[in-house]
Amino acid sequence: MNYATRVQRVEPSATLAVSNLAKELEAAGEDVVDLSVGEPDFDTPDHIKAAATEAMEAGETGYAPSNGIPELREAIAEKLQGDGMEYEADNVIVTPGAKQALFETFQTLVDEGDEVVLLDPAWVSYEAQAKIAGADLTRIDLRPHDFQLEPALDELADVVSDDTELLLVNSPNNPTGAVYSREAMNGVRDLAVDHDVTVIADEIYQHINYGPEHVSLSALEDMYERTVTINGFSKAYAMTGWRLGYLAAPEELIDQAGKVQSHSVSSAVNFVQHAGVTALEERGEETAEMVEAFENRRDLLLDLFDEHDVDVSHPEGAFYMMVPVDDDDKAWATNALEDAKVATVPGSAFGTPGYVRISYAASADRLEEGVERLVEADYL
Ligand code: PLP
Repeated sequence: MNYATRVQRVEPSATLAVSNLAKELEAAGEDVVDLSVGEPDFDTPDHIKAAATEAMEAGETGYAPSNGIPELREAIAEKLQGDGMEYEADNVIVTPGAKQALFETFQTLVDEGDEVVLLDPAWVSYEAQAKIAGADLTRIDLRPHDFQLEPALDELADVVSDDTELLLVNSPNNPTGAVYSREAMNGVRDLAVDHDVTVIADEIYQHINYGPEHVSLSALEDMYERTVTINGFSKAYAMTGWRLGYLAAPEELIDQAGKVQSHSVSSAVNFVQHAGVTALEERGEETAEMVEAFENRRDLLLDLFDEHDVDVSHPEGAFYMMVPVDDDDKAWATNALEDAKVATVPGSAFGTPGYVRISYAASADRLEEGVERLVEADYL
């Protein structure tokens, strides 16, 4: 069989590879501290589950409108308006997860050979999705800037040109936990406007932020028409398995991206969308409680690494931290899993070798146990 070059040049997901290996070891009876997965260790709030059950019992089990049920598109538009953006319900496509929203955006905007700019480290699926769409990638290394964007704006200005199709900005960031400043976002805006570049603003960790101001690109002057805002329910509402996300963009883009959705996944699951309305309209304290727990775990890890003289950057959002390791981060991660039974994701999967990403969406006890094991086995 002949496989498409676009697909062959994509690596399998490193995050899934590590977590599958961790699961295999666990199945064989090993006690693995799994710090690889980006999944809140909290259950979906009860009132959201109840809304899904109610919708299912009311017969909302058939196909939903392809771009999403009107009530949810409306509730999402209201949420985005509350965040200072101009979107109306017609600017929203409800998707089965933010990952699918990103996929549809790449498919809609990128032609073979178009330039897409990524800021490294970049979440694993950006590279894969851009390549599947046929993009040529240009990458900016944020390692020398402690993973911040503002000090890298000059470098970004050197690469962004009239030939650039798309720039991807993710704040709060996976895998670094960095939250980009307003000055950084203004710098992105200036470049995007000067060179007529479209920006994907991946805001999936918007609510998991330990204090700094969250800046939505689409809310900045002249950015509405050139931004695709991506968000979803997986992280802030502990709904990873429900597969519910969305993209918001000017209506012309929605018309095009809507074709990708209707000819592929059809729509997000009907009763799940009804639960999404409840999640947005009846927001309880759950998100705030989760965020507080994540912040405490971040502080715990910073203390532990400080105690062991490991120089980590200071994440301000999401639930990830980059830990400096050997140049061969893949070997480090494989060996740490085999010897110390601690699962981490090699930084090279995000375009930044020499680091591993740990996720602190695991309990404080497991985090302590993980660091202790890595220290005892001389990995730190
Ligand atoms: N964007 C980033 C930066 C992520 O980390 C993830 C999931 O890990 C996604 C998008 C996709 O989220 P979803 O579960 O909604 O598909």
